[in-house]
Amino acid sequence: MSEPLYARPTSVAEALELRAAHPDWMLLAGGTDLLVDSNHRKVPVGMLDLWRLAALGGIRQRDAAIEIGAGTTWLEIERHPLVRVGFLPLAEAAREIGARQIQARGTIGGNIGTSSPVGDSLPVLLALDAEIEVASVRGSRRVPYRDYCVGYRKTALAADELIIAVHLPTPVASTRMVWRKVGTRKAQSISKVMGAATMVLDGGTVVSARIGMGAVADRPIRLTAVEQAVVGLSLLQAAEAARAAVPAAIAPISDIRSTSDYRRAVAANLVARFFAV
Ligand SMILES: Cc1cc2nc3c(=O)[nH]c(=O)nc-3n(C[C@H](O)[C@H](O)[C@H](O)COP(=O)(O)OP(=O)(O)OC[C@H]3O[C@@H](n4cnc5c(N)ncnc54)[C@H](O)[C@@H]3O)c2cc1C
Repeated sequence: MSEPLYARPTSVAEALELRAAHPDWMLLAGGTDLLVDSNHRKVPVGMLDLWRLAALGGIRQRDAAIEIGAGTTWLEIERHPLVRVGFLPLAEAAREIGARQIQARGTIGGNIGTSSPVGDSLPVLLALDAEIEVASVRGSRRVPYRDYCVGYRKTALAADELIIAVHLPTPVASTRMVWRKVGTRKAQSISKVMGAATMVLDGGTVVSARIGMGAVADRPIRLTAVEQAVVGLSLLQAAEAARAAVPAAIAPISDIRSTSDYRRAVAANLVARFFAV
């Protein structure tokens, strides 16, 4: 068995050249997803190490949005004032990803790269209408996260592309934002059900809502039928309308963590609470 080839680029341009030349190499960011099943995977022919590539790090204000570099860790996201002030559900989700060691190493790009149905940031990205900036030597493009995950751990990323950044548009001032994760315990827990919502309110009436949920389908999903059902209702009415509409809007599985019936019941209560809080 030969050792994998290894490269650690120092610029995005170099990383993209390497990716174009070696689309079959493993891409490594923090490694917290990749190393979990490394014993069950074939040794990669090569490894492109993006960990701490400076150009993929950092959080910046960009006009009416913030930009989060793909290599930004959960600890950095949770602590950043731009996230804490303007996008609290993302900071809250970051705080609940694994424990501190995982938060110091795991990146937002890695969560998106895997796009597991239980990736905690992904419902938040749906609720915040995030766009994923990806690039290759052919150029760059932005993909809304709702179009990015196209199946069970399948994404729209082409073989020669890298995730560069996440763009979060600044919500209008009257937007309420919420996040909730239900797991076996408070920390170090894979989600049984989790979700996030943003809702624009006029007084106590729902003008519009975006609801992202995880662990209720083969991929993170927007509950568009529920979003439509709550428009024009008071918060109290919206909570009940959401509770009624959620079960038909999701397709959870039964697995080692929960039954599908449990997930349906919890998801309905969780979304109802988003409106009741
Ligand atoms: C003990 C433990 C607890 C955990 N708890 C949670 C949890 O509570 N919630 C949760 O959501 N996750 C959890 N995870 C999973 C993991 O920590 C997160 O998904 C993390 O965000 C992955 O980031 P990473 O940088 O380590 O990704 P990596 O493992 O380096 O990469 C993951 C995938 O993304 C791809 N990738 C990474 N960066 C890029 C890029 N720039 N462009 C293209 N592809 C890229 C990789 O090729 C790979 O396929 C846990 C993991 C462990 C080991």
